[in-house]
Amino acid sequence: MTTGIIIVAAGRGTRAGGETPKQWQGLRGRRVLDWTLEAMTTALPDAPLVVVLHPDDMGLLDGHDTVAGGGTRAQSVRNGLEHLAQYHPSQVLIHDAARPCVSPTVIQNVLRALQTANAAAPALAVSDALWTGTEGRVTGTQDRAGLFRAQTPQGFRFDAILAAHRGMSKDAPDDVADDVAVARMAGLDVTIVPGDEDNLKITYPGDFARAERILGMQMDIRTGNGFDVHRFGDGDHVVLCGVKVPHDAGLIGHSDADVGMHALTDAIYGALAEGDIGQHFPPSDPQWKGAASEIFLKHAAELARTRGFALTHADVTLICERPKIGPLAQQMRTALAEIMKIDIARVSVKATTSERLGFTGREEGIAAMATVTLVQS
Ligand code: MG
Repeated sequence: MTTGIIIVAAGRGTRAGGETPKQWQGLRGRRVLDWTLEAMTTALPDAPLVVVLHPDDMGLLDGHDTVAGGGTRAQSVRNGLEHLAQYHPSQVLIHDAARPCVSPTVIQNVLRALQTANAAAPALAVSDALWTGTEGRVTGTQDRAGLFRAQTPQGFRFDAILAAHRGMSKDAPDDVADDVAVARMAGLDVTIVPGDEDNLKITYPGDFARAERILGMQMDIRTGNGFDVHRFGDGDHVVLCGVKVPHDAGLIGHSDADVGMHALTDAIYGALAEGDIGQHFPPSDPQWKGAASEIFLKHAAELARTRGFALTHADVTLICERPKIGPLAQQMRTALAEIMKIDIARVSVKATTSERLGFTGREEGIAAMATVTLVQS
């Protein structure tokens, strides 16, 4: 079962205001169309996809199949269908470029219905009372029973909707609202599936702010945790969170055994789903022998940045009876903040004993745990 996707982006959208059509206007640092494309390709990464553009806009989009739209919405969709035919999809989702907040759930609702139906589209039952009105006055009321607000993506058996578009009468009105209308003109039954209030169609200037809020709530926020232990051995100091601390023992490890920094580094790798320190800096590799652990932490923080994440918070807990961490915590926060290149107000270092219980209580070693938060920026 191959699903094709058509994104209809050929409109001029004058009601939304602005110098350029709404699909090209900015929304949280990207164009509206870029958000729409991401929503659809995330849900269906392997689907053949074509974007229908206004003939004047053909140079504005790279990396996707594009075709020029026609004089009406129906003609634009037809051009998209004819292009998609070369991929032989069994079904197709037709989606408005101006609906960038479409959720995976709405897309899945349509796809699930298509398992048994020839056509399916999301909609919301009208809940507000409906009036008719002219010149600022109510002229009547309208029964809302059985009324729905139509959304996209609208899904169809590919052959059926292609035939419906090809068979559209030359006398059909120019303002056919959507592909459900085209399908019904061809006698296709259309199943209604649940839409989503957040799947708004950007139409008026105020809709941009609402779309930004919705996309903001969909932001990629991640938490990672890390845990590490190192055993005490001979020595006269330990290195904890980048600070050299005099002690009557040292910590044993392949690198400088900075247990706090290792836990923190692993927490960042965890949030990125990027394995752990051992995978990035194998202990079997002699070049990391005695290495300063800030190499590891720098690498993890940099990896987060290149993935588009801001490290908004890091919290490290050291578990030991001795040395006393409290007086050094501030210095440790400074060191970690500098290495990660973030504000010290976003870095916490604290400590606890384990009440003389267990291996930390017997002073056989030090344990550390860390939690970080990454926010896609
Ligand atoms: Mg370690």
